[in-house]
Amino acid sequence: MSEGIVKISEDRLLAYRKAEIAELAEAIALRFYNGSIIHPELIAKEQGITFSYNNYKDSFDGLLEHHSGRFHIYINLNRLRGENNPRIRYTFAHELGHYFIDEHRNALKSGKTPSHPSFNGLVAKNPVEREADYFASCLLMPEKLFRKQCFRRPLDPKLFEDLAKYFETSISSVIFRYFELNLFPMLIIKVINGLIDWKMPSKDFKYKYLPKKGAPVPPTTAAGEYFNIGKKYLEKQLLWPDDWFKDFNISKDEQLFEKCYYLSETSVMSVIWKREKGMR
Ligand SMILES: [Zn+2]
Repeated sequence: MSEGIVKISEDRLLAYRKAEIAELAEAIALRFYNGSIIHPELIAKEQGITFSYNNYKDSFDGLLEHHSGRFHIYINLNRLRGENNPRIRYTFAHELGHYFIDEHRNALKSGKTPSHPSFNGLVAKNPVEREADYFASCLLMPEKLFRKQCFRRPLDPKLFEDLAKYFETSISSVIFRYFELNLFPMLIIKVINGLIDWKMPSKDFKYKYLPKKGAPVPPTTAAGEYFNIGKKYLEKQLLWPDDWFKDFNISKDEQLFEKCYYLSETSVMSVIWKREKGMR
């Protein structure tokens, strides 16, 4: 089988699973929505799931345990200490995902998989963890409510901040949700130690010649300036498309915005989008 065929079937499976998980999570969210934010604890209580917040050293962020028909969620305050409330809410919602997604719960119940510890990260590699992450983001930021909050507002870092406040989620989970719902053409790119780690262009993102994984970040971009001269920007920056991309058909009046999120000393996540007429 050629690589291409494998990739297409994997994508389809992913899209199908995603749709299923989104439907499940959002039905639960809307059942509990009473005009304020979604509280994962209330959902757990209604399902008879017990939970505890405690210090469990560095072993996990969250954990769902099954014992003779009963489920318990552990949230590790040790690893999440000093973190804002959104991290704890997200971890809790992620553990609920392991409970509500049939395959995850049944695997736990049958003893086929031990209670698996979960760790927070930007993009989980394990598909089971990815499914629970996706569940968490759909539960805490249901599509209907999310779209309503974005109505008639252009992509802007201020919009992300407002959404994060409204849903009590982190800025990065808001950005991924916004991307997932394809609300505006954009590119998310992560740079570690000055090298491109990964990139996610939305389907309709205009530019196609993007820097490759492992390549040095272009020095005249906002992310590039951080790694080359240590300059940090709190505001979005206006750039020329050829600072980032090698496309041939760029016209002279095109401009981009780039907003850097400094995740740690060695890693930056940039959100990049084309400046449309009327965008300031
Ligand atoms: Zn997990």
